[in-house]
Amino acid sequence: MLYHCDHKQLIMNIPAKAHTFAQTVFSLTVAEHGRMALNLQEFIKQELNKNQGKLSPDHANAILSGNANRQLTAWLQLLATDAGLDSGLIDGFWGPQTDFAFNSLLFLHENGALPPFWRDYVPLNLNPNNWPLEKEADLIAFYGQPCNESSLLLIDLPYEHRLAWDLSTKVRRTRCHSKVADSIVRVLDKVKAHYGEDKIKELRLDRFGGCYNPRRKRGGTQWSTHAWGIALDYDPDRNQLQWGRDRAHFAKAEYEPWWSFWEEEGWVSLGRKSNFDWMHVQAAR
Ligand SMILES: [Zn+2]
Repeated sequence: MLYHCDHKQLIMNIPAKAHTFAQTVFSLTVAEHGRMALNLQEFIKQELNKNQGKLSPDHANAILSGNANRQLTAWLQLLATDAGLDSGLIDGFWGPQTDFAFNSLLFLHENGALPPFWRDYVPLNLNPNNWPLEKEADLIAFYGQPCNESSLLLIDLPYEHRLAWDLSTKVRRTRCHSKVADSIVRVLDKVKAHYGEDKIKELRLDRFGGCYNPRRKRGGTQWSTHAWGIALDYDPDRNQLQWGRDRAHFAKAEYEPWWSFWEEEGWVSLGRKSNFDWMHVQAAR
């Protein structure tokens, strides 16, 4: 069975509530400042033109000359960014990160503040091992070429893992990049000490989805971080790629220590950072 992760170009449908919200903001702005545009679409165009400098340079022209949905998306990304929410690049594509930022923005609008647990999920921003950025050139400079098996090391896992798709297969060792080997062992030692073997099983922190895997990101030409052996997947069944924190089990409070142990070593959870692919953790920023 194949599980696909770090697939960052997911494009989702714009939810109906995004249109409703846009209309609300437009109406409020008109009420406050008088008539500044004939309709919502024209208003969005004006706002995008005013804020050209904030649009992703690679996408600015396409957004400004694009269709209504792309402009709506870019404008909501802009509003979320201005509100201090991380919606990623302002590219006019509705993906999981935009979706989460939009839902936070909606909450903020309706309640005047974010709920406390929203803020609690802000990941630790530490990088004691100086993991590189997740850009191919940076990854190669730090880790060497992808799919290079001579850079891998076999490590003993501090507690017994099982293959997520075949629980009868026990996993005591795995191959990973030599530069991340010690860090993985330190993290899993802490996990074992904190949770204990029974709790580990209960939380399914032993259901292993793999580490080294010489493959490209799905639908793209870029290498997956798994191709360097610097990413691990856990419990893919209950943390599916497109699931957000409303469904992914690893978003629950009892996994807070699990993520803290990784983040203390500079590892990045795509779930905590961008609210998708909650199975995945990587030694790249
Ligand atoms: Zn992964």
